[in-house]
Amino acid sequence: MVVIDGKAVSRSVRERVKQETAELKAKGITPGLAVIVVGDDPASAVYVRNKEKACDEVGFYSEKYALPASTTQKELNDLVDELNARPEISGILCQLPLPKHLDDKEVIARINPIKDVDAFHPVNVIGDYHFLPCTPAGIMELIHSAGVDPMGKKAVVIGRSNIVGKPMAMLLLHENATVEIAHSKTQNLADVTKSADILVAAVGKAKFVTADMVKPGAVVIDVGMNRDENGKLCGDVDFESVAPKCSFITPVPGGVGPMTISML
Ligand code: NAP
Repeated sequence: MVVIDGKAVSRSVRERVKQETAELKAKGITPGLAVIVVGDDPASAVYVRNKEKACDEVGFYSEKYALPASTTQKELNDLVDELNARPEISGILCQLPLPKHLDDKEVIARINPIKDVDAFHPVNVIGDYHFLPCTPAGIMELIHSAGVDPMGKKAVVIGRSNIVGKPMAMLLLHENATVEIAHSKTQNLADVTKSADILVAAVGKAKFVTADMVKPGAVVIDVGMNRDENGKLCGDVDFESVAPKCSFITPVPGGVGPMTISML
């Protein structure tokens, strides 16, 4: 069994992006990211700060718009329109969640799909990708780093959220895996998960996937970020019992988590 080192793969992705950015700059092109954050959600503030830091590290130009919680839909839409029109801004990201009086679907749909770096715009969600969604794209990178080719393999994704489960299934399908998506209404879940050569858990429940749900030799990817009964960060997979059965497994922390911003 090999534990996939998300931190190391994440570092190598950033190195690659830094090099590619230097090559683009030599041709007079600087990638520019605009990040919009509305209100004072503390978790959003941390995510946005980390994204700004990552931009600096790889040499992107970046702009941050920290708008007050009282921002109106029109003001937000107008800002998106302005950023859509500016050539030095190649990517626009609106940090979610937005305050309750704002419609996130309206904002996302307004971002030009070719600048939609989160890949949340409907055009990107249906798989006509201009950008890949960060977390699932990071998982594909981890799978490749382990030398695993999804082609012809049975993949099961537990979870069908728009941010993780659905795009994850699409990316595995793009790489010719035979994909099944499980969710809270799935019957005999363990029978489904036990058929998986590649099992991705994106459930949001601490230690939900146990050894009896995993096929011997499976590649197990744990997307979950939960707290256990002692308040310790843990994944959706019961790592202790599952790891000995796997060929490859991602830990939490240090697996999928470090990949997300690097992929962005
Ligand atoms: P979500 O929107 O809450 O979706 C959870 C999915 O799990 C739903 O599709 C739900 O099914 C399914 N589910 C819930 N209980 C189930 C059960 N008993 N059996 C089978 N399926 C069940 O969560 P999310 O946004 O996809 O995130 C999932 C986890 O990944 C969370 O822990 C989140 O914190 C983490 N996450 C990590 C990163 C990262 O960068 N590491 C990024 C994003 C998310 P229904 O659709 O039927 O309700």
